[in-house]
Amino acid sequence: MRLHHLNCGTIRVFGGVAMIGTGSLRTRAPGVIHCVLAETDDGLLLIDTGPGARDYAAPTPLNRWFIALAGLPRDSEETAVAQVRRLGYAPEDVRHIALTHFHFDHAGGLPDFPGAKVHIFDEEYAGVMRPRDIYERFVYRPEHWAHRPDWAVHALAGDRWFGFDCTPLVDLGATAFTLVPLPGHTRGHCGVALRLPGGWLFHCGDAYTFHGDVDPDRPFRPPYYRLFRPYFAMIGPFRKIGEHAPRLRALRRAHGDAIQLTNAHDPHELEKFRAGEPPGAG
Ligand SMILES: [Zn+2]
Repeated sequence: MRLHHLNCGTIRVFGGVAMIGTGSLRTRAPGVIHCVLAETDDGLLLIDTGPGARDYAAPTPLNRWFIALAGLPRDSEETAVAQVRRLGYAPEDVRHIALTHFHFDHAGGLPDFPGAKVHIFDEEYAGVMRPRDIYERFVYRPEHWAHRPDWAVHALAGDRWFGFDCTPLVDLGATAFTLVPLPGHTRGHCGVALRLPGGWLFHCGDAYTFHGDVDPDRPFRPPYYRLFRPYFAMIGPFRKIGEHAPRLRALRRAHGDAIQLTNAHDPHELEKFRAGEPPGAG
């Protein structure tokens, strides 16, 4: 089974120096949108999609604003669908998409894979379908599910994964995955745990954004985090950054030889995976 670690969007976000630890106070920090493409016995599995082709070619006014906020260059070559094609596959070969959450930088590419089964946690699905407040109405964009995806909505049924609650395992032959709720960033935000031949890859989405936060030996916050805390608090969901970090650190301390961790936006982690030295292993 082969894994491809994709950067589906180079972001340059204000405050990124405090969130993802790159750049400086005076510049927007470069980050990534780290998606994982896995070749399985049941076609391709994509963990998060990044923004979609239409988000760049014909963005709605709100998506135009999201793109500007993230500082994305609107480079269609960075979309997952363009990268899938460059790897020699057709979009139809993506049979499964597992979502950490439904923000545009994680789910905007769904319309590019209209035939894929879309795996989502039931709490997140509820937020998308029945937003309960102005924030949810604002961030979940209907154009990203207007094509009526083949939803696979997963709920907790008593299963456990290394001490975390998780949804029942989805079997894709030699590999399998489960959704592990890490709520806060959105109400149904999950990590996606992918079983590999020698262990697990745990894509934590936006449950943390800086690798130092989950360092089991010497945890450290990005420089200037304190300085930006009021700004994060102002934009709601970022309040929760760091809440899961202690559990993820403990997970790495106990099972670091079996579990590789990554989040969605830290370029340091993506580079490590691409260099073949995954940060969560050992
Ligand atoms: Zn994100």
